[in-house]
Amino acid sequence: MKKKRFLVMTDIEGVSGVTSFPQAEVSEFGKEMLMHDLLAVLRGIEDAGCDAVVYDMHTDGRNVDVSRISVPAVLGKPILPDLWRGVGDDFDGLFMLGLHTMQHVKGACLAHSYLREYDSIHINGKLLGEIGVEAALAGERGIPLLFVSGDDLGCREAEELIPGVITCAVKKSLTEDSAICLPAEKTAEMLYEAALKAAKANVEPYKLSSPYEIKIKFSDCFYLTKMKNIHPEIFDTDDTVIMRGDNLLATWSEYLKYEKEMTRE
Ligand SMILES: [Zn+2]
Repeated sequence: MKKKRFLVMTDIEGVSGVTSFPQAEVSEFGKEMLMHDLLAVLRGIEDAGCDAVVYDMHTDGRNVDVSRISVPAVLGKPILPDLWRGVGDDFDGLFMLGLHTMQHVKGACLAHSYLREYDSIHINGKLLGEIGVEAALAGERGIPLLFVSGDDLGCREAEELIPGVITCAVKKSLTEDSAICLPAEKTAEMLYEAALKAAKANVEPYKLSSPYEIKIKFSDCFYLTKMKNIHPEIFDTDDTVIMRGDNLLATWSEYLKYEKEMTRE
C-alpha cells in the first residue's frame, strides 16, 4: 500500500508556551517552541508509517529550521494559483500546527484572522478564520483537515467546523494575551499521540461550493487606506473587499497578491 502523505502547515501563535504577538513575531523563543511542537508532530506521523511535507505559513514563512527536520519544508509563502501550497494535490490530509481562533473570539489568546487588521473573513457567506479558510482551500482539492493544535478555543473552532478532526490543545486561553500553558514535555507527548491518531483518522474534506465569494472586512487602519489607494476596484463598501471566482485557490491567490502589495514597505 502506498504510504500516506500529509502537509503540515505551521503557525506560531498557537504553539506551546506562546502568549503574546511579540513572542510569535520577533522572538527566538517563538521559533524554538514552534520546532518543539513540530518535531513531536513529525515523530507521530513517521511512527504512523506516513510521510510529511512542512509548509511554514507564519508571517513571511521563514520560521521553520530545516537543519532539525528530515522532511522537505516549503518556506517563503509562494503565491501559486495553480499549485496548492507550492507542492500540489498529492496529499492524504492536512495538519495545522500552532493555530488560534478567528478575530474577535472572546477570551481567545492571540485571536486573529491572518492580518490583525482584518476584522472578518467570509467565504460564501460563512465566517471563517485561518483554520476554516485553509480547510476550504484543501477541501477544494479533496484533501481533509485531519489535525489542529493550538489553544483550546482554536481547537474548538476546528471541531465545530470539521466533524472528526483530531485536535490537541497545548494551552487553555484565559484572555486575549494570556493562557494556562502546559509544560513543553507534556505537550510534546500530547502532540505525538494526536498526530499518530490523526494519521489514521477518517475525515471528510471541508468543501464550499463554486462559484466563490471571498469577503474581507478591514478594521480602520493604515492598510485599509493603502489598499483603497492601490486597488480601489476590489472594494464593495468603504471597508470591505469582495473577490469572486469559480476556483477558490485562484481567487484567494489573486487576493494574496494584492495583500502582498499592500503590506510591502
Ligand atoms: Zn495565524
